[in-house]
Amino acid sequence: MYAGRIVESAPAEALFAYPGHPYTQGLLTATLSIDEARPITRVMEGAVPDLARLPRGCRFHPRCPAVLERCRIEDPPAFRLGAHHLAACWLHQGEDAP
Ligand code: SF4
Repeated sequence: MYAGRIVESAPAEALFAYPGHPYTQGLLTATLSIDEARPITRVMEGAVPDLARLPRGCRFHPRCPAVLERCRIEDPPAFRLGAHHLAACWLHQGEDAP
């Protein structure tokens, strides 16, 4: 969930193996690991927006490292990445799995 919207949902195994949303990917690279060989590799820039003043389009776009021009205008629907895997991100448009 990001700024009040579910941006990705999947069974845990699929989510950790194939995170499809840039926010999920950012969270997974920003988590601490008990394995010292896998340190934090990236910290997400920016902050969660004020829920009363959400940005237009995808609410994650001001922080997204993969932002497209369309993201600043249109909020993406949830695209199906697998049987029980959904991600609300324009990067997956046209990839809809059955
Ligand atoms: S829709 Fe655009 S801004 Fe939002 S997460 Fe996907 S690529 Fe990033």
